[in-house]
Amino acid sequence: MGKRIFSILILTSFLLVSCVDSHRSMKEVVFVMDTIVTLDVRDHANEKLLKKMTDRLMEIDSLMSFSKEESDIYQVNHAKGESVLVDSSTYYVVKKAVEYTQMSGGCFDPSIGRLVALWGIGSDDEHVPSIKEIEEVVETIGLDKISLSEPNSISLMDGTMIDVGAIAKGFAADEMIRIAKEAGVESAIFNLGGNISVLGSKGSDSFRIGIRNPFSESDEYFGIVEVTDTSVVTSGNYERYFIDESGVKYHHILDPFSGYPADNELSGVTVICSSSIKADAFSTALYVMGLEKGLAFIEQMDDMEAIFVTNSRDVYLSTGLQTSFLLCDDSFRIPE
Ligand code: AMP
Ligand code: MG
Repeated sequence: MGKRIFSILILTSFLLVSCVDSHRSMKEVVFVMDTIVTLDVRDHANEKLLKKMTDRLMEIDSLMSFSKEESDIYQVNHAKGESVLVDSSTYYVVKKAVEYTQMSGGCFDPSIGRLVALWGIGSDDEHVPSIKEIEEVVETIGLDKISLSEPNSISLMDGTMIDVGAIAKGFAADEMIRIAKEAGVESAIFNLGGNISVLGSKGSDSFRIGIRNPFSESDEYFGIVEVTDTSVVTSGNYERYFIDESGVKYHHILDPFSGYPADNELSGVTVICSSSIKADAFSTALYVMGLEKGLAFIEQMDDMEAIFVTNSRDVYLSTGLQTSFLLCDDSFRIPE
């Protein structure tokens, strides 16, 4: 009898623990990949899972950093044309980058590394390079300078450097979703420095994601999208920039053709896509394309939607967002 009660007690406490576990939510904020990352796991959370996620973020950073000497990207960039065997994740990211370069007609291009380094925007050495320097470095950009060979080898033309800074956070966000799903998580939201990915929904509601106001110094938003199971990624000229003595602003999204920061009427572009690496690549690519070409491009894509904000606060939406985007700041307008 005593034994039976004991067994029932054990069973009850086991059920309680598993019940509590599946509902357990946890939030963690870490600084990694040069940005603030918030991991908000809304069910099935535990310390081990959060640690697995933060470890993976650190691993991606140490593989794909442009500046860390031990990274795969650094090794490839300093191999003087030799082939380098890289981690399969690095290979996947570079291979995807090549695919997105082709799709975007070169507006997004990972072989832009030397140009990024030359401008140094966001570093201690940010400056306007000479026209000669820019012309020389633009010559090092192009897909014909990158060779990939299966399974995991990359070589570059001597003098070319790759930078996956425009998509590494997107890849990392996809990895967070993968790890969460594998652990049985049904609802989560990950924010990697403004690069947001959501898993499932928020109870019976969608997640409401604010779209950052590009003219605000703080994290204010001008609009909201309601989403489930997708990623929302924004690129803008307000993220990293410097202003020279004559008051000209130079920002970090570079036009691979001109060698200068993309100079058009846009202040920000947001892409919504279930693949965060793709959303990340195309938020950068559409910014470089500019409003007209960018809108025409996105309308041909079945799996992506976009929001374009101009310097004069006009907001343009791709067709799939016309009914699901909510403007909540009346200093912006959606032109007819
Ligand atoms: P994002 O904030 O995702 O738009 O990425 C911007 C970062 O990507 C920059 O800081 C550079 O490291 C790199 N980058 C800038 N312009 C380009 C470009 N046209 N194609 C690929 N990467 C770029
Ligand atoms: Mg990007």
